This record gives sequence, structure tokens and C-alpha cells, in this order.
Amino acid sequence: MKIYISADIEGVCGSTHWNEADNNKTDYAEFKKQMTAEVAAACKGAMAAGVKEIVVQDAHGTGRNITAKELPDGVKLIRGWSGHPNAMVQELDNTFDAVIFIGYHSRAGSGANPMAHTMRGSYVDYLKINDYYASEFLLHGMLAATLGVPVAFLAGDEGLCDEVKSINKNITTVAVKKGVGDSTFNLHPKEAIEKIWQGVENALQSDLSKCHLPKYDEYSLELRFKKQQLAFDASFYPGCKLIEPQTITFNTKDYFEVMRMMHFVIK
Ligand SMILES: [Zn+2]
Repeated sequence: MKIYISADIEGVCGSTHWNEADNNKTDYAEFKKQMTAEVAAACKGAMAAGVKEIVVQDAHGTGRNITAKELPDGVKLIRGWSGHPNAMVQELDNTFDAVIFIGYHSRAGSGANPMAHTMRGSYVDYLKINDYYASEFLLHGMLAATLGVPVAFLAGDEGLCDEVKSINKNITTVAVKKGVGDSTFNLHPKEAIEKIWQGVENALQSDLSKCHLPKYDEYSLELRFKKQQLAFDASFYPGCKLIEPQTITFNTKDYFEVMRMMHFVIK
């Protein structure tokens, strides 16, 4: 088996404030370690389930958070940002048997994480894809669905785990914390790591054919920006329509065009 792990930091155990997600701040060091430990636990759980090949993308901020030598031998790590529109799942293709999300967080507009946002916090008020208010998980998970790759597992805040279950109850989730207003209510970091290890091992031994996100013939996006200026600018991307001063729509049959549009309008 070959799996892909995409990792973020705002959904790891304990992280609560933007200073803890910013590599220029002293508060960050502890959460870089926790992110690394949660990803390492997912890799070890995968290996225990018989996975032979693991690709990890460090998908937060600079893309340079995870300490590579803390990961098990043989794991491949993507660092930095290539500029490819697939963003947080660069290099994901149909040769992978499953995708796993670690450290993922609730979407912009959610009350379930003090750092809730979608892609770029200062830009996006909400993103809607067909019937769903989309998180970063959903944006990238739907791309995986178009490639035929199921989502085996997600660890993050409780609000996002509820979102995952509401879309596909067969996907295994581990809630490492719960957001309450501007606070988080957390598991002990070691317990989070143990649950991720075990959760990934069990998930990869379950029937992954039931773990696909939905695929559609056509995708209708509604993207509301925080500022009208950003929506006006984005409305000139081919296919985007300004429907309200802060909101654009975009329709396509090809999901890659969703990723390409997001790449160019959320810069
Ligand atoms: Zn992040």
C-alpha cells in the first residue's frame, strides 16, 4: 500500500493562538514538535498496517515545519510550496491507495477552532462547493475523490471531525481538541499521538472502498471574500462572476479547474 499524508498545524493537539502557528514567534517551537509527532504517529500506524510507501506534505505556512529526522525511515517529505494548484496535496495522484489528513482545522466561519479559516484567513469569508461549506479538508479531499483516492483518516479539531462524519461516516477521525470561543479544550498531547497511531492502523485495515468523498459531474463554487476589493479583482479570473460586491461564483465540470481558480484568486 502507498499512502499520502497532508499535515497542517492549526488542528494539532494544543495549538490555540496564531503565535503558535508562526515560525517567527517563540510560542511556535512546541507546536512544530507536536505536528511532527502527530505525523510520525500516523506514519507508524500506517507501517503497522502494512503500508510500504508514505509521502508526507508539510502543508502549513512556509511548508517547513516538520522535523524530517523524527519521521520513520523511508518516509518521503514534501517541504515548501511548488506553485502547483493542488496546494496541500501536491504530488497526489491515482497511484495512492489512501490519503490521510493530520492537524487539520475547521473552516472559515466555523466556531469550532479559534484559528478557523479556509486557505487564507484574511481573504476568505466562506467557500461553498455544491452543497457544502468547504474546509481545506473538503477542498483537497474532493480532489482526492476525483483521482479515485479514498480518505482513510483525519485528525484535527472536533468541529472538523463532525464535518467529516456528516459527509462520510466511514472515514475514521480523531478529535484531538475542541474549540470553545477563543480557547481550546485538549487531550493530553501523548494521548493524541497514541490515538492517531492506533486510529491510522485500524483505518487502513478497514474497507477503504467505503471512504471516498463525493464526486460530481459539475462543481458550483461560491466564494465570499472578506473585502469587496478582493472579490472585484477575482472576478476577472476566467469563468468567475461577481454576484455581490464580496462574492464570486465559478462553475466547472473539471475539479482541477477549482484548484487552479483558488490558486490564482487566493494569492
Ligand atoms: Zn495551517
